[in-house]
Amino acid sequence: MQTLRWTLRVLSLPRFTKTCPHCGGQYYENSGRFRVNANGKRLDIWLVCRCEHCKSIWNLSVFERIDRAALCQADYMGYLENSESLVLRHVFDPAFCAKNRAVLDPGSLDYAVSGVLPRAGDAARVEAACAYALPIPAAGVIGRTLGLSLSGVRRLCESGLLTLPGDPRKIKVNTGFSFTLQKGWHG
Ligand SMILES: [Zn+2]
Repeated sequence: MQTLRWTLRVLSLPRFTKTCPHCGGQYYENSGRFRVNANGKRLDIWLVCRCEHCKSIWNLSVFERIDRAALCQADYMGYLENSESLVLRHVFDPAFCAKNRAVLDPGSLDYAVSGVLPRAGDAARVEAACAYALPIPAAGVIGRTLGLSLSGVRRLCESGLLTLPGDPRKIKVNTGFSFTLQKGWHG
């Protein structure tokens, strides 16, 4: 059986679900920018988000009063220059989200999959990887990439032609997942 590798790339900054205390809006967009305040050798760093509706600001804490020397130079410059990979690193870090009581809206996350697609009917094992822990269902990514509906993916699982280790309704992409297609699978 051939092994195919897919790589998922994040194409857009996902928004957060949170009720705005000013206007009652339900979502905050990610500005993709950090705010860095220096106080002597200590830094406060936030990720700046805005209510989609009234644009009021919600600062998510990245570091509080951290010693400047505790940050590596590349990260320090990254915060000053609003490095996209740093933004993504925090956005998909469950500890960062929990600390800020921030809930990602998985539906607002856009991604692209690169790699070789299995030929219809051929047996294959697919190993998918992502640099960030994406909290979206693996079954949705499989369906979108193979051109199948979610019910189509579920049918393949039920008939044993597609094997995902675990419950296909619950498995998330995370930093990677794998699945197996048996000979004779079809959409
Ligand atoms: Zn608002």
